[in-house]
Amino acid sequence: MRFNKPHITGNELQYISKVLETYQLAGNGIFTKKCHDYFESKYNFRKCLMTTSCTDALEMAALLCEIEPGDEVIMPSFTFVSTANAFVLRGARIVFVDSRSDHPGMDEDKIESLISPKTKAIIVVHYAGVACDMEKISKLANQYNLLVVEDAAQAIDSYFVNRKGQKRALGSLGHFATFSFHQTKNLTSGEGGLLVLNDERFFERAEIIWEKGTNRSAFFKGEVDKYGWVDMGSSFLPSEITSAFLWAQLEQLNNIQNRRVSIWKAYYDGLKDWAGCNNIRLPVIPSYATNNGHMFYLVCPSFHARKCLIEFLNDNGVKAVFHYQSLHSSEFFKEKHDDRVLENSDKYSDCLLRLPFYYDVDESSIIDLLLNFNEELQNK
Ligand SMILES: *Cc1c(COP(=O)(O)O)cnc(C)c1O
Repeated sequence: MRFNKPHITGNELQYISKVLETYQLAGNGIFTKKCHDYFESKYNFRKCLMTTSCTDALEMAALLCEIEPGDEVIMPSFTFVSTANAFVLRGARIVFVDSRSDHPGMDEDKIESLISPKTKAIIVVHYAGVACDMEKISKLANQYNLLVVEDAAQAIDSYFVNRKGQKRALGSLGHFATFSFHQTKNLTSGEGGLLVLNDERFFERAEIIWEKGTNRSAFFKGEVDKYGWVDMGSSFLPSEITSAFLWAQLEQLNNIQNRRVSIWKAYYDGLKDWAGCNNIRLPVIPSYATNNGHMFYLVCPSFHARKCLIEFLNDNGVKAVFHYQSLHSSEFFKEKHDDRVLENSDKYSDCLLRLPFYYDVDESSIIDLLLNFNEELQNK
Protein backbone atom coordinates (compact mmCIF):
# COMPACT_ATOMS: atom_id res chain seq x y z
CA MET A 1 0.00 0.00 0.00
CA ARG A 2 1.40 3.33 -1.03
CA PHE A 3 2.12 6.18 1.37
CA ASN A 4 0.36 8.92 -0.56
CA LYS A 5 -2.02 9.24 -3.50
CA PRO A 6 -3.70 12.39 -4.82
CA HIS A 7 -7.49 12.28 -4.88
CA ILE A 8 -9.05 13.15 -8.24
CA THR A 9 -12.58 14.46 -7.69
CA GLY A 10 -13.94 14.04 -11.23
CA ASN A 11 -14.53 17.54 -12.64
CA GLU A 12 -10.89 18.46 -13.24
CA LEU A 13 -10.85 17.70 -16.99
CA GLN A 14 -14.20 19.39 -17.57
CA TYR A 15 -12.92 22.66 -16.04
CA ILE A 16 -9.63 22.43 -17.90
CA SER A 17 -11.64 22.05 -21.16
CA LYS A 18 -13.51 25.23 -20.28
CA VAL A 19 -10.18 27.01 -20.01
CA LEU A 20 -9.13 25.68 -23.42
CA GLU A 21 -12.36 26.98 -24.96
CA THR A 22 -11.59 30.52 -23.81
CA TYR A 23 -7.99 30.56 -25.13
CA GLN A 24 -7.11 32.31 -21.84
CA LEU A 25 -4.49 29.88 -20.61
CA ALA A 26 -2.17 32.25 -18.75
CA GLY A 27 -2.90 33.21 -15.16
CA ASN A 28 -5.31 35.53 -13.37
CA GLY A 29 -8.38 34.50 -15.40
CA ILE A 30 -11.83 33.24 -14.40
CA PHE A 31 -10.74 30.20 -12.38
CA THR A 32 -7.94 32.03 -10.58
CA LYS A 33 -10.51 34.63 -9.50
CA LYS A 34 -13.02 31.97 -8.46
CA CYS A 35 -10.36 30.40 -6.23
CA HIS A 36 -9.42 33.78 -4.72
CA ASP A 37 -13.08 34.59 -3.93
CA TYR A 38 -13.70 31.16 -2.45
CA PHE A 39 -10.79 31.37 -0.02
CA GLU A 40 -11.45 34.98 0.92
CA SER A 41 -15.10 34.40 1.76
CA LYS A 42 -14.87 30.94 3.34
CA TYR A 43 -11.87 31.58 5.57
CA ASN A 44 -11.97 35.34 6.01
CA PHE A 45 -8.60 35.80 4.33
CA ARG A 46 -8.23 39.50 3.49
CA LYS A 47 -6.58 39.08 0.07
CA CYS A 48 -5.52 35.96 -1.83
CA LEU A 49 -3.03 35.46 -4.66
CA MET A 50 -2.68 32.00 -6.18
CA THR A 51 0.95 30.97 -6.70
CA THR A 52 2.75 28.15 -8.45
CA SER A 53 3.69 26.55 -5.12
CA CYS A 54 3.83 27.19 -1.38
CA THR A 55 7.59 27.61 -1.85
CA ASP A 56 6.85 30.50 -4.21
CA ALA A 57 4.31 32.00 -1.81
CA LEU A 58 6.96 31.89 0.95
CA GLU A 59 9.44 33.65 -1.36
CA MET A 60 6.85 36.35 -2.03
CA ALA A 61 6.26 36.72 1.71
CA ALA A 62 10.00 37.12 2.30
CA LEU A 63 10.16 39.84 -0.38
CA LEU A 64 7.16 41.62 1.15
CA CYS A 65 8.72 41.45 4.62
CA GLU A 66 11.63 43.42 3.07
CA ILE A 67 14.16 41.06 4.57
CA GLU A 68 17.70 42.36 4.09
CA PRO A 69 21.06 40.65 4.60
CA GLY A 70 21.73 40.29 8.31
CA ASP A 71 18.07 40.44 9.38
CA GLU A 72 17.00 37.60 11.63
CA VAL A 73 13.92 35.43 11.32
CA ILE A 74 12.75 32.89 13.89
CA MET A 75 11.22 29.57 12.78
CA PRO A 76 11.03 25.93 13.87
CA SER A 77 13.85 23.58 12.92
CA PHE A 78 11.41 20.71 12.36
CA THR A 79 10.01 21.91 9.04
CA PHE A 80 10.39 21.63 5.28
CA VAL A 81 13.39 23.31 3.64
CA SER A 82 11.21 25.83 1.77
CA THR A 83 10.24 27.58 5.02
CA ALA A 84 13.89 28.47 5.53
CA ASN A 85 15.08 28.78 1.92
CA ALA A 86 12.70 31.66 1.16
CA PHE A 87 14.43 33.75 3.82
CA VAL A 88 17.95 32.44 3.17
CA LEU A 89 17.54 33.67 -0.42
CA ARG A 90 17.03 37.21 0.97
CA GLY A 91 20.19 36.95 3.08
CA ALA A 92 18.45 36.44 6.43
CA ARG A 93 20.05 34.71 9.38
CA ILE A 94 17.76 31.88 10.45
CA VAL A 95 17.28 31.37 14.19
CA PHE A 96 15.73 27.97 14.77
CA VAL A 97 13.37 27.20 17.67
CA ASP A 98 12.87 23.80 19.21
CA SER A 99 9.62 21.84 18.89
CA ARG A 100 7.25 21.36 21.81
CA SER A 101 7.63 18.22 23.88
CA ASP A 102 3.96 17.23 23.34
CA HIS A 103 3.84 17.82 19.58
CA PRO A 104 6.18 18.78 16.69
CA GLY A 105 5.00 22.40 16.38
CA MET A 106 7.36 25.16 17.56
CA ASP A 107 7.62 25.78 21.31
CA GLU A 108 5.98 29.20 21.66
CA ASP A 109 7.56 29.73 25.08
CA LYS A 110 11.07 29.50 23.64
CA ILE A 111 10.62 32.32 21.11
CA GLU A 112 10.97 35.43 23.25
CA SER A 113 14.53 34.77 24.39
CA LEU A 114 15.60 34.49 20.73
CA ILE A 115 14.29 37.93 19.73
CA SER A 116 17.07 40.48 19.10
CA PRO A 117 17.10 44.03 17.68
CA LYS A 118 17.74 42.42 14.26
CA THR A 119 14.67 40.16 14.36
CA LYS A 120 12.18 41.00 11.61
CA ALA A 121 9.71 38.12 11.55
CA ILE A 122 8.43 34.97 13.19
CA ILE A 123 7.61 32.17 10.76
CA VAL A 124 5.16 29.72 12.28
CA VAL A 125 4.53 26.29 10.79
CA HIS A 126 1.21 24.61 11.61
CA TYR A 127 2.66 21.10 11.52
CA ALA A 128 0.17 18.39 10.46
CA GLY A 129 -2.42 21.16 10.16
CA VAL A 130 -2.41 21.67 13.93
CA ALA A 131 -2.38 25.32 15.00
CA CYS A 132 0.47 26.93 16.88
CA ASP A 133 -0.69 29.03 19.83
CA MET A 134 -1.39 32.15 17.77
CA GLU A 135 -2.45 34.20 20.78
CA LYS A 136 1.00 33.86 22.30
CA ILE A 137 2.72 34.50 18.98
CA SER A 138 0.64 37.56 18.04
CA LYS A 139 1.26 39.03 21.47
CA LEU A 140 5.03 38.70 21.02
CA ALA A 141 4.83 40.10 17.49
CA ASN A 142 2.92 43.16 18.71
CA GLN A 143 5.21 43.70 21.63
CA TYR A 144 8.40 43.57 19.52
CA ASN A 145 6.91 44.94 16.28
CA LEU A 146 7.58 41.79 14.26
CA LEU A 147 5.86 40.42 11.18
CA VAL A 148 4.19 37.00 11.35
CA VAL A 149 4.20 34.58 8.42
CA GLU A 150 2.11 31.40 8.76
CA ASP A 151 3.52 28.50 6.77
CA ALA A 152 0.10 26.88 6.52
CA ALA A 153 1.14 24.47 3.75
CA GLN A 154 -0.53 21.58 5.62
CA ALA A 155 -3.24 23.60 7.31
CA ILE A 156 -6.10 24.19 4.87
CA ASP A 157 -9.49 24.12 6.62
CA SER A 158 -7.98 24.14 10.10
CA TYR A 159 -8.69 26.65 12.86
CA PHE A 160 -7.29 28.37 15.92
CA VAL A 161 -9.71 28.57 18.84
CA ASN A 162 -9.05 31.50 21.17
CA ARG A 163 -9.66 31.58 24.91
CA LYS A 164 -13.18 32.91 24.35
CA GLY A 165 -13.93 29.89 22.15
CA GLN A 166 -13.96 31.86 18.87
CA LYS A 167 -12.65 29.97 15.82
CA ARG A 168 -10.49 31.66 13.21
CA ALA A 169 -9.09 29.92 10.15
CA LEU A 170 -5.37 29.25 10.06
CA GLY A 171 -4.02 31.57 7.40
CA SER A 172 -6.15 34.50 8.61
CA LEU A 173 -4.01 35.27 11.66
CA GLY A 174 -0.55 36.29 10.40
CA HIS A 175 0.39 39.29 8.26
CA PHE A 176 1.01 36.66 5.59
CA ALA A 177 0.12 33.00 5.18
CA THR A 178 1.13 30.43 2.60
CA PHE A 179 -0.67 27.25 1.51
CA SER A 180 0.40 24.33 -0.67
CA PHE A 181 -1.61 22.38 -3.24
CA HIS A 182 1.19 19.92 -3.92
CA GLN A 183 -0.07 16.40 -4.60
CA THR A 184 0.76 15.33 -1.04
CA LYS A 185 -1.61 17.88 0.53
CA ASN A 186 -5.36 17.64 1.32
CA LEU A 187 -6.33 19.60 -1.83
CA THR A 188 -4.15 19.51 -4.88
CA SER A 189 -3.47 20.89 -8.33
CA GLY A 190 -0.31 18.79 -8.75
CA GLU A 191 1.90 21.73 -7.89
CA GLY A 192 0.30 24.90 -6.62
CA GLY A 193 0.10 27.37 -3.78
CA LEU A 194 -1.57 30.40 -2.29
CA LEU A 195 -0.32 33.56 -0.64
CA VAL A 196 -2.72 35.19 1.82
CA LEU A 197 -2.30 38.83 2.82
CA ASN A 198 -4.13 39.98 5.92
CA ASP A 199 -2.67 43.49 6.19
CA GLU A 200 -3.75 46.11 3.67
CA ARG A 201 -0.34 47.80 3.72
CA PHE A 202 1.00 44.97 1.53
CA PHE A 203 -1.81 44.53 -1.03
CA GLU A 204 -0.54 46.80 -3.77
CA ARG A 205 3.08 45.74 -3.64
CA ALA A 206 2.06 42.07 -3.52
CA GLU A 207 0.18 42.35 -6.84
CA ILE A 208 3.21 44.01 -8.42
CA ILE A 209 5.67 41.37 -7.21
CA TRP A 210 3.20 38.68 -8.35
CA GLU A 211 3.10 40.19 -11.86
CA LYS A 212 6.90 40.21 -12.40
CA GLY A 213 7.43 43.69 -10.96
CA THR A 214 4.91 45.40 -13.23
CA ASN A 215 1.69 47.23 -12.40
CA ARG A 216 -0.19 45.03 -14.88
CA SER A 217 -2.94 44.16 -12.34
CA ALA A 218 -3.64 47.86 -11.67
CA PHE A 219 -3.71 48.46 -15.45
CA PHE A 220 -6.33 45.76 -16.06
CA LYS A 221 -8.43 47.14 -13.21
CA GLY A 222 -8.29 50.53 -14.97
CA GLU A 223 -6.40 52.13 -12.10
CA VAL A 224 -3.47 53.31 -14.28
CA ASP A 225 -3.42 54.06 -18.01
CA LYS A 226 -0.23 52.21 -18.93
CA TYR A 227 1.81 49.51 -17.30
CA GLY A 228 5.51 48.99 -16.89
CA TRP A 229 8.31 47.97 -14.59
CA VAL A 230 7.74 49.55 -11.18
CA ASP A 231 9.42 47.27 -8.61
CA MET A 232 11.25 43.97 -8.25
CA GLY A 233 9.19 40.86 -8.90
CA SER A 234 9.10 37.42 -10.43
CA SER A 235 6.78 34.92 -12.09
CA PHE A 236 4.59 33.74 -9.23
CA LEU A 237 1.13 33.37 -10.73
CA PRO A 238 -0.03 29.95 -11.93
CA SER A 239 -1.64 29.12 -15.26
CA GLU A 240 -5.44 29.03 -15.52
CA ILE A 241 -5.15 25.27 -16.08
CA THR A 242 -3.78 24.89 -12.56
CA SER A 243 -6.56 27.00 -11.03
CA ALA A 244 -9.23 25.14 -13.02
CA PHE A 245 -7.91 21.86 -11.59
CA LEU A 246 -7.94 23.31 -8.09
CA TRP A 247 -11.50 24.59 -8.53
CA ALA A 248 -12.69 21.01 -9.05
CA GLN A 249 -11.05 20.13 -5.75
CA LEU A 250 -12.54 23.10 -3.89
CA GLU A 251 -16.04 22.00 -4.93
CA GLN A 252 -15.39 18.76 -3.06
CA LEU A 253 -13.66 20.29 -0.05
CA ASN A 254 -16.25 19.21 2.54
CA ASN A 255 -16.36 15.68 1.23
CA ILE A 256 -12.53 15.43 1.17
CA GLN A 257 -12.21 16.87 4.65
CA ASN A 258 -14.90 14.61 6.15
CA ARG A 259 -13.22 11.54 4.74
CA ARG A 260 -9.75 12.61 5.91
CA VAL A 261 -10.89 13.41 9.43
CA SER A 262 -12.63 10.03 9.61
CA ILE A 263 -9.41 8.24 8.58
CA TRP A 264 -7.58 10.14 11.33
CA LYS A 265 -10.21 9.16 13.93
CA ALA A 266 -10.13 5.52 12.82
CA TYR A 267 -6.35 5.43 13.26
CA TYR A 268 -6.55 7.18 16.62
CA ASP A 269 -9.30 5.02 18.12
CA GLY A 270 -7.97 1.80 16.59
CA LEU A 271 -4.40 2.31 17.78
CA LYS A 272 -4.85 3.99 21.19
CA ASP A 273 -4.50 0.89 23.40
CA TRP A 274 -1.88 -0.71 21.16
CA ALA A 275 0.23 2.45 21.25
CA GLY A 276 0.07 2.57 25.06
CA CYS A 277 1.32 -1.03 25.31
CA ASN A 278 4.20 -0.36 22.90
CA ASN A 279 5.31 2.92 24.44
CA ILE A 280 4.31 4.72 21.24
CA ARG A 281 2.72 8.20 21.34
CA LEU A 282 -0.20 9.26 19.16
CA PRO A 283 -0.71 12.83 17.88
CA VAL A 284 -1.82 15.50 20.35
CA ILE A 285 -4.29 18.22 19.33
CA PRO A 286 -4.18 21.10 21.85
CA SER A 287 -7.47 22.61 23.06
CA TYR A 288 -6.89 25.74 20.93
CA ALA A 289 -6.48 23.75 17.68
CA THR A 290 -8.75 21.76 15.36
CA ASN A 291 -7.93 18.70 13.28
CA ASN A 292 -7.94 18.98 9.46
CA GLY A 293 -6.98 15.35 8.81
CA HIS A 294 -3.75 16.18 7.06
CA MET A 295 -1.50 13.53 8.55
CA PHE A 296 -1.39 10.70 11.07
CA TYR A 297 1.91 10.12 12.82
CA LEU A 298 3.29 7.94 15.60
CA VAL A 299 6.14 8.92 17.90
CA CYS A 300 8.20 5.80 18.62
CA PRO A 301 10.23 5.42 21.82
CA SER A 302 13.56 5.37 19.95
CA PHE A 303 15.22 5.53 16.55
CA HIS A 304 15.68 1.76 16.70
CA ALA A 305 12.00 1.13 17.51
CA ARG A 306 10.99 3.29 14.57
CA LYS A 307 13.33 1.40 12.25
CA CYS A 308 11.79 -1.92 13.34
CA LEU A 309 8.27 -0.63 12.84
CA ILE A 310 9.04 0.79 9.37
CA GLU A 311 10.62 -2.53 8.41
CA PHE A 312 7.68 -4.50 9.76
CA LEU A 313 5.22 -2.39 7.77
CA ASN A 314 7.33 -2.44 4.61
CA ASP A 315 7.74 -6.22 4.87
CA ASN A 316 3.95 -6.41 4.94
CA GLY A 317 3.51 -4.19 1.91
CA VAL A 318 2.69 -0.94 3.73
CA LYS A 319 4.80 2.10 3.00
CA ALA A 320 5.31 4.18 6.16
CA VAL A 321 7.85 6.99 6.22
CA PHE A 322 9.65 9.29 8.63
CA HIS A 323 9.56 13.05 8.13
CA TYR A 324 11.89 16.06 8.41
CA GLN A 325 15.49 15.96 9.48
CA SER A 326 16.02 18.96 11.80
CA LEU A 327 17.17 21.86 9.62
CA HIS A 328 19.60 23.17 12.24
CA SER A 329 21.66 19.99 11.92
CA SER A 330 21.36 19.65 8.12
CA GLU A 331 24.46 19.53 5.96
CA PHE A 332 23.71 23.01 4.63
CA PHE A 333 23.03 24.67 7.96
CA LYS A 334 24.95 22.91 10.72
CA GLU A 335 28.00 25.21 10.47
CA LYS A 336 25.72 28.26 10.62
CA HIS A 337 23.70 27.16 13.66
CA ASP A 338 24.57 28.49 17.10
CA ASP A 339 25.31 25.72 19.58
CA ARG A 340 21.85 25.40 21.14
CA VAL A 341 20.67 21.80 21.35
CA LEU A 342 17.13 21.41 19.99
CA GLU A 343 16.29 18.13 21.63
CA ASN A 344 12.60 17.87 20.78
CA SER A 345 13.19 18.67 17.13
CA ASP A 346 15.87 15.96 17.03
CA LYS A 347 13.55 13.54 18.81
CA TYR A 348 10.86 13.98 16.11
CA SER A 349 13.54 13.61 13.41
CA ASP A 350 14.55 10.27 14.93
CA CYS A 351 11.26 8.88 16.21
CA LEU A 352 8.31 10.20 14.17
CA LEU A 353 6.67 7.86 11.67
CA ARG A 354 3.84 8.74 9.27
CA LEU A 355 1.19 6.20 8.25
CA PRO A 356 -0.32 6.08 4.74
CA PHE A 357 -2.93 8.84 4.50
CA TYR A 358 -5.09 9.54 1.45
CA TYR A 359 -8.74 9.62 0.43
CA ASP A 360 -9.15 5.93 -0.48
CA VAL A 361 -6.57 4.41 1.85
CA ASP A 362 -7.58 1.13 3.47
CA GLU A 363 -6.96 2.31 7.02
CA SER A 364 -8.63 -0.65 8.73
CA SER A 365 -6.22 -3.19 7.25
CA ILE A 366 -3.28 -1.01 8.34
CA ILE A 367 -4.71 -0.84 11.86
CA ASP A 368 -5.16 -4.64 11.90
CA LEU A 369 -1.60 -5.10 10.74
CA LEU A 370 -0.23 -2.79 13.42
CA LEU A 371 -2.19 -4.62 16.12
CA ASN A 372 -0.10 -7.66 15.17
CA PHE A 373 3.12 -5.80 15.77
CA ASN A 374 4.32 -6.47 19.27
CA GLU A 375 7.48 -6.40 21.25
CA GLU A 376 8.54 -9.79 20.07
CA LEU A 377 8.77 -8.46 16.55
CA GLN A 378 10.45 -5.35 17.80
CA ASN A 379 13.19 -7.51 19.31
CA LYS A 380 13.66 -9.74 16.27
C1 LIG B 1 4.55 21.00 1.46
C2 LIG B 1 5.19 22.05 2.30
C3 LIG B 1 5.86 23.15 1.75
C4 LIG B 1 6.13 23.28 0.28
O1 LIG B 1 5.01 23.31 -0.52
P1 LIG B 1 5.20 23.31 -2.14
O2 LIG B 1 3.81 23.68 -2.60
O3 LIG B 1 5.59 21.94 -2.53
O4 LIG B 1 6.20 24.33 -2.47
C5 LIG B 1 6.34 24.13 2.59
N1 LIG B 1 6.21 24.04 3.91
C6 LIG B 1 5.59 22.99 4.50
C7 LIG B 1 5.45 22.95 5.99
C8 LIG B 1 5.08 21.96 3.72
O5 LIG B 1 4.48 20.91 4.31
